[in-house]
Amino acid sequence: MSRRPLMAGNWKMNATHLEAIQMVQKLAYRLPIDDLDRVEVVVIPPFTALRSVQTVVEMDNIPLGVGAQNVHWATEGAYTGEISPTMLAKLSVSYVVVGHSERRALFGETDEMVNKKAKAVLGAGMTPIVAIGETLEEREAGEVESVCATQLAGALKGMDADAVAGLVVAYEPVWAIGTGRHAEPADAQTVAGFIRESIRERFSDAAEHTRILYGGSVNPGNVAAIMAKKDVDGALVGGASLNPDTFAAVVKYWA
Ligand code: PEP
Repeated sequence: MSRRPLMAGNWKMNATHLEAIQMVQKLAYRLPIDDLDRVEVVVIPPFTALRSVQTVVEMDNIPLGVGAQNVHWATEGAYTGEISPTMLAKLSVSYVVVGHSERRALFGETDEMVNKKAKAVLGAGMTPIVAIGETLEEREAGEVESVCATQLAGALKGMDADAVAGLVVAYEPVWAIGTGRHAEPADAQTVAGFIRESIRERFSDAAEHTRILYGGSVNPGNVAAIMAKKDVDGALVGGASLNPDTFAAVVKYWA
């Protein structure tokens, strides 16, 4: 089964809409169409830049996908400060990150909320990027698999095999995010393989289609070794995605 590699740049709370326009244009300039045929590339700006990024991508016919960093599960209503799946879908957003560790740790996002968000994203015709991963304490306590299994099962609760086949799961060890300390490629493979097997146990062959990303201090120097692993289908990239030169070099991991 060949799964199309996916490189997703999570800009977090960085870039005004004006800066975002420039970043997308610079990135597109550095990625010839052949590269974008080979790898799917998605930029994930803050909400305030989504409309501008969508406009640039559509007006200039740039084959980049657009993602969002968060979403509420309701379609509309009295949820001050929240953004609905419908609103994102109308902006041609195709991917939504759910369960990022920063949202779990800083904003109290639980597995139940991640599950509601993931289902709402699917319901609006978009693809969730479900982020899971252990803290350093959990790793040192030998809990990597149990933490990932619990977060994965929570996120996928109530989904059917078709939905799971189309999902993206991002394995993001918390200790590797924004720290400059990435997982060893062999470690990334071990956990990605474990995630795929866990999916296979519940959803059988759908597991062959689910794309599994690695995230955590990915950069142009370490991406090739990580991408060489058989169950790693791409990367969720934070810091290195803010610089178009660096992100383009990550995208062209084989070069
Ligand atoms: C992330 O925010 O998902 C991430 C992986 O960040 P970084 O690449 O900076 O570690």
